[in-house]
Amino acid sequence: MADQKRDYYEVLGVNKSATDDELKKAYRQLAKKYHPDANPDNPKEAEAKFKEVSEAYEVLSDKQKRTMYDQFGHNGPQGFGGGNPGGGYYSYTTSGFDGFDDLGDIFSSFFGGGFGGRSSSRTNPNAAAKGADLRYNMDISFEESYLGVEKEIIINKYDDCSTCHGSKAKPGTKPETCSTCGGTGKITQNISIMGMQMQTAKTCPHCNGEGKIVKEPCPECKGKGKVKKQVKIKVTIPAGIDDNQMVVLRGVGEPGTNGGPKGDLYVVVHVKRHNIFSRNGDHVVCDIPITFTQATLGAEIEIPMVDGKTEKYRIPEGTQTGTKFTLRGKGFKSRNRSWDGDYVFTVVVQTPKKLTSEQRELLVKLANTMNEQPPIKKRGIFG
Ligand SMILES: [Zn+2]
Ligand SMILES: [Zn+2]
Repeated sequence: MADQKRDYYEVLGVNKSATDDELKKAYRQLAKKYHPDANPDNPKEAEAKFKEVSEAYEVLSDKQKRTMYDQFGHNGPQGFGGGNPGGGYYSYTTSGFDGFDDLGDIFSSFFGGGFGGRSSSRTNPNAAAKGADLRYNMDISFEESYLGVEKEIIINKYDDCSTCHGSKAKPGTKPETCSTCGGTGKITQNISIMGMQMQTAKTCPHCNGEGKIVKEPCPECKGKGKVKKQVKIKVTIPAGIDDNQMVVLRGVGEPGTNGGPKGDLYVVVHVKRHNIFSRNGDHVVCDIPITFTQATLGAEIEIPMVDGKTEKYRIPEGTQTGTKFTLRGKGFKSRNRSWDGDYVFTVVVQTPKKLTSEQRELLVKLANTMNEQPPIKKRGIFG
């Protein structure tokens, strides 16, 4: 299934620049279309379509997931959806289903769960679930993006309680199975949805869907199994990283539940502007001022490099302002090709604003030898 996954945008029938509203609209229409009630002849196919549509919407409606998907596709750092049960991909900023919660619950009772993280954890409270992913925004300088850098960051996150090791119970005691729901975390109810009598599951109010009751909570974490900690983490930013790209630290997110894996930490890099250099693809771009005599006679000039060093470069005589010169391979380290970017500079000829009387005399002499205005350049037919 994973190798023939359709593009999420294609699944929802929207283009890559679709707004949140367009996505929501497309999702609502398709969810209605593939509703099992509307497809009594081929419910299996409808269910598969519905799940495909839901997965696409879950990813594209989340700004962070969408960015990841655009950047990495289905095979992104950890793959989207379809993987671990309750495979949450939540971060501080993620708001989840945005008004579709109820719909999600109804459909999860139709299809027996598997509808994103939340519902499946309700369906099976004992299922292993991956911990929350975290996002950290890091500002780095232009030079750091060029050279790469190692930084220590401090994040506040939940970590396993070292006293109860996540069991939530006071050391020496054990959580008991909930007697109200028998450990399933839910109570079945008969309800009527769209004219159909259905059995649906409701979260057990006694254990809040956990299936277990902790009689004596761990005093350290007050029965949460995890505690908020300030953690120092070393992050290696590779040379060549561009603005808004991410570094993914696997397993550095929050602890999972019921033995599920830890979440991941996404470090989103923001590169500060530089007052000399800018970036174009993997090329370093800048303007280098030269005097009009250097431009006229040619000269060896010194070029400042991003790493603080300088390079000598010979510009030929008769160089026009605006001419671009290239130092091959002196740009950014490419992260996806075997060759690096270039350093491209544009010379800008400076006209002197102040002259000494001697300079003025010399220039007047020069002017007298070349006092004709140069001809106006005509554009060619194809120009
Ligand atoms: Zn504890
Ligand atoms: Zn219960």
